[in-house]
Amino acid sequence: MSALPKLIIGLVLSTVAAVAAAQQYPTHAVNMIVPYAAGGPTDTVARVVAQAMGKPLGQTVVVENRPSAGGIIGPEAVKNAKPDGYTILIHHIGMATTPTLYRQLRFNPLTDFEYIGLINEVPMTIIANQKVPAKDLKEFLTYLKANKDKVSYANAGIGAASHLCGLLFMSAIQLDLLTVPYKGTGPAMNDLLGGQVTFMCDQTTTTTSQIKGGKVKVYGITSPKRVPSLPDVATLEEQGLKGANVGVWHGLYAPKGTPKPVLDKLVSSMQTALADADVQKRFSELGAVTYPKNMQTPAALEKHLKEEIAKWAPLIKKAGQYAD
Ligand code: ASP
Repeated sequence: MSALPKLIIGLVLSTVAAVAAAQQYPTHAVNMIVPYAAGGPTDTVARVVAQAMGKPLGQTVVVENRPSAGGIIGPEAVKNAKPDGYTILIHHIGMATTPTLYRQLRFNPLTDFEYIGLINEVPMTIIANQKVPAKDLKEFLTYLKANKDKVSYANAGIGAASHLCGLLFMSAIQLDLLTVPYKGTGPAMNDLLGGQVTFMCDQTTTTTSQIKGGKVKVYGITSPKRVPSLPDVATLEEQGLKGANVGVWHGLYAPKGTPKPVLDKLVSSMQTALADADVQKRFSELGAVTYPKNMQTPAALEKHLKEEIAKWAPLIKKAGQYAD
């Protein structure tokens, strides 16, 4: 046989094999990359979703943390992974803020990924270590001003939700405070509890239990309304602080080029997982609001991402952009 028919037969066979593999998907465990440290809010959401997606997929979904300040290593790793559905990414609002915050980013949220869908939205809380004497936000702001050379703000690096919240908060109270970056707010919370840093702004996903257990001081929540899981925590707005509201939304992504049958399976598995009663219960305990089913879709995630990039760019620039 001459070279051309051989080549054509080879191409046909590999296409048939790829289609068969996509249809049989998944035949082994799926990796869900989390761009922040274990024990933090993104990790917590990931573990709930991963466990529940394992049932409809018929395979375990393994959570793999690829922590970095700003959460910029995880998306790059998924961009460069084989687009076969065995490596997926969970990420939050950082997918929309990093393009403005970083001059150098080795992934493009709008061109390097397939979209699976929107998961949930979580508010943030301003919390401080127990040594801070302030009883409410007003006293806390007075305390920060009086101690501006001593206090420190912990975040998960430039582009993290905690960075964004801190940026807006400091801009709203017109103070520039020392910021200590971590590779996720899981480790930042440990230092806050140990009194090494003064305050942070983090998702209710991990602050709720610390607030309820009286382990940290709380000075406000970044949602327009109070949340049922923390009814006594006043919003920043109702305490007169405007311009620091942040809703941390999460989405699920796959590398660009992931076959359609594989993506369809991931979409339906995510939707089944989000409808699970245990997932719903867990999310509401954590103050998270699940997106309605018609937004748990690739089209809705793509639309939301584009809108969020456009929404945050001018706000970040106004608050003072700083990144390399
Ligand atoms: N809460 C972190 C953030 O500031 C990330 C994390 O550790 O989940 O974005």
